[in-house]
Amino acid sequence: MEKIILDGNIVAQDIKEKLKGRIEALKNNGIIPCLATILVGDNPSSETYVKMKGNACKKLGIHSIRVHLPEETTTKELLETIKELNEDASVHGILLQHPVPSHIDERMAFEAIDIQKDVDGVTSAGYGQTALGFGNFPSCTPAAIMEIIKYYKISTEGKHAVVVGRSPILGKPVSALLLNENATVTTCHSKTANLPEIIKQADLVVAAVGKPKFIQGSWLKEGAIVLDAGYNKGNIGDVDYETCFTAASAITPVPGGVGPVTIATLLKHTVDSAEKNMF
Ligand code: NAP
Repeated sequence: MEKIILDGNIVAQDIKEKLKGRIEALKNNGIIPCLATILVGDNPSSETYVKMKGNACKKLGIHSIRVHLPEETTTKELLETIKELNEDASVHGILLQHPVPSHIDERMAFEAIDIQKDVDGVTSAGYGQTALGFGNFPSCTPAAIMEIIKYYKISTEGKHAVVVGRSPILGKPVSALLLNENATVTTCHSKTANLPEIIKQADLVVAAVGKPKFIQGSWLKEGAIVLDAGYNKGNIGDVDYETCFTAASAITPVPGGVGPVTIATLLKHTVDSAEKNMF
């Protein structure tokens, strides 16, 4: 059986290469694409993610504004910051780094983001549009998974896709995107009974569980395609890579799989948003 490593670095590079000319055209029209990231508190992983996103912007000539608010920020204060960024015409995308401290109403904060600048598809309107198959910006990780599928010409039509996880930013929207691409989708979660038996029926498995090495190779159908969105401490995915590699026909590694494509997708969405100011 031919084995394919679904290399996220290659897919991310391809997306970024295609953005270069578009960013140049924007600049020639006096527009510098700009992403604003909001980080609340001092979660070290979140700080790293925000830094990575800022660096990726810089490398491509996208302006990035980093708003770092203290841990004790209230929901009201966060909403004020979001409002300011919504009203700032030079900002094309707003990313509120998740999770925010538990005393903040995260849903309310997400909903405050202007849909035109919701480049990570976190608003309920953005999610609804994704599910209905229109709109601009699906959440970046689900969109990244679809980019990998597209780049490697993996056919989803009529295939049984099993998504493990149902979070609003990952499991649910990727289930919707796969459904829109004519897969037959089963979405699993912590209350799902007989998970290994359901996964055994999958042509394509998306792991979005948040538990290191959770999905075992013995649960897979021979030749299944595995997309691991997981990113746990120590660069470990949500699938047990060694055993899943043996059973799968194609698999994303961690690191170097879904992660870099997620960042490239965020840049793409920011450029898409900036272009709306040009035409
Ligand atoms: P999350 O909000 O914690 O959601 C986890 C989901 O997994 C929930 O729906 C939960 O079910 C389900 N689950 C938990 N235990 C389970 C079990 N034993 N069996 C079946 N389902 C179970 O996590 P998330 O934000 O979606 O993130 C998921 C993973 O993706 C994490 O590893 C995260 O680090 C990673 N991630 C990566 C990127 C990237 O750029 N690569 C971006 C975002 C997230 P319930 O709904 O029933 O609780």
